[in-house]
Amino acid sequence: MVEMRNVHKRFGDLEVLKGINLTVERGKIISIIGPSGSGKSTLLRSVNHLEVIDDGDILLDGAQVNRPDLQGLAFERHINHIRQNMGMVFQHFNLFPHLSTLDNVTLAPRKLKGMASKQANQLGMELLDRVGLADKADVFPSRLSGGQKQRVAIARALAMQPKVMLFDEATSALDPELVEEVNRVMRGLAEEHMTMLIVTHEMAFARDVSDWAMFMDGGVVVEEGPPSMLFSTPQQERTQHFLSKHL
Ligand code: ATP
Ligand code: MG
Repeated sequence: MVEMRNVHKRFGDLEVLKGINLTVERGKIISIIGPSGSGKSTLLRSVNHLEVIDDGDILLDGAQVNRPDLQGLAFERHINHIRQNMGMVFQHFNLFPHLSTLDNVTLAPRKLKGMASKQANQLGMELLDRVGLADKADVFPSRLSGGQKQRVAIARALAMQPKVMLFDEATSALDPELVEEVNRVMRGLAEEHMTMLIVTHEMAFARDVSDWAMFMDGGVVVEEGPPSMLFSTPQQERTQHFLSKHL
């Protein structure tokens, strides 16, 4: 479903991704953990081309995401098509402040897929219901709690019916008591076999929910494996050290 092969990314002299290989199969959930600055966000942003990689390949369903052979409008068309298949949820919710909750969710299907308002609203209400916020459809984001905003952000990402969901520290800006309501929505997606790539600092959640876990440090994958092994019997000293501080 998502594949990275020998991906390199530099910011000036700083090499942030030093040859990343990763495969997320359909319906699988991969968690990425690691210290601040290790390259987790850069990796995730590279998947939908918010960062342009310097070397290597990224594939979505076998189709190349990075296409140095395409320029201008042709590339834009290509990348828009790729992005329609990926939902991304960031640490900060980035909801449109001037749109109601429902309009936040329906904007993309209306604008990008040309979905009729009636159908978009029906889909939007279904998704708001799924994240437990059907009663907030007409409310503006400023009136929502952080956990509610993040659940709207998830509903909004789902509105494009993506093949894969990318989560970058979706709960790390939330007060602790709001984390669980967002985690519950993510667990729901996991139960429905949504393909997910999750960057998180919540080790217990990563251990519970994922099929595979990767520990990154300094732009490389130091260690990876089934969460039952990575979290309980890490082999590498760097992983052991990180987990001893974060479990
Ligand atoms: P955190 O846990 O703090 O979110 P991270 O693992 O997500 O960290 P990244 O955000 O991927 O780390 O950053 C990796 C490195 O790349 C850091 O040293 C960061 O300063 C650098 N970096 C990230 N974005 C840019 C940019 N646009 N320009 C220059 N350097 C950048
Ligand atoms: Mg980050």
